[in-house]
Amino acid sequence: MPEGHTLHRHARMHHRRYAGHPVAVSSPQGRFAAQASLLDGRKLARAEAHGKHLFHVYGPDAIVHIHLGLAGIFDERKLPLLAPVGQVRMRVAGRTHWTDLRGPNACELWTSDDVARLQARLGPDPLRKDADPEKAWTRISKSRVSLAALLMDQAVLAGVGNVYRAEILFRHGVAPMTTGRELDQIVFKEMWDDLVELMNYGVKAGQIDTVRPEHMPEVMGREPRKDAHGGEVYVYRRHGLPCYICGTEVAKAELAGRNLFWCPTCQPE
Ligand SMILES: [Zn+2]
Repeated sequence: MPEGHTLHRHARMHHRRYAGHPVAVSSPQGRFAAQASLLDGRKLARAEAHGKHLFHVYGPDAIVHIHLGLAGIFDERKLPLLAPVGQVRMRVAGRTHWTDLRGPNACELWTSDDVARLQARLGPDPLRKDADPEKAWTRISKSRVSLAALLMDQAVLAGVGNVYRAEILFRHGVAPMTTGRELDQIVFKEMWDDLVELMNYGVKAGQIDTVRPEHMPEVMGREPRKDAHGGEVYVYRRHGLPCYICGTEVAKAELAGRNLFWCPTCQPE
């Protein structure tokens, strides 16, 4: 599933390309056709994201809520328009570009009240300027649940997925099974600031890189990482390989159906 930086990257792109002008909205597949007809020709006010949710805001009465889920993708193109390929739920076309949305978990027409209800349930998003990390700390500091689980809980922190979870714990030397109550507030603050920086980098670069300059391939004289996710990471999907810092084999375990990766030496219990 895409992590928050991917949604913010698309939201910023949509805002840049479409906001402030009327757009053509359609649903070649038909499943969003009735809603699209209400939006077609309206001016898009803005596009924004909160965690893994993306919003196209036309007005308080008309906001498209999109959640990609596991299979959803945005196909971003320059004009001219081409015939739809596959099941295109929503097509948005502006003056220079167009976007096809295929296979989302959710694509629905909401009001600002619906958005407010969702946002009230979501934790602060490190990529939003209005994010309040205290809200996350209040939840974490009272919890007997592991940080591995808390970091993935969108009600605690919005936008963090499996890669950022593994990497942020590694970068701060925190064992994944440490409970929220056991975490030091100063370490939490450092982790939050680090997430803000790493995720903003992810929005700009379009991939997750978490390795510090001194551990980059050219500095260490090693091969760059080869992985469909791209980017240089310390532990994510590196199980069985030596840790870049201490040489210990990176460990893997399953937690709540998702793989968890960590270095048992750098992140002691
Ligand atoms: Zn290590």
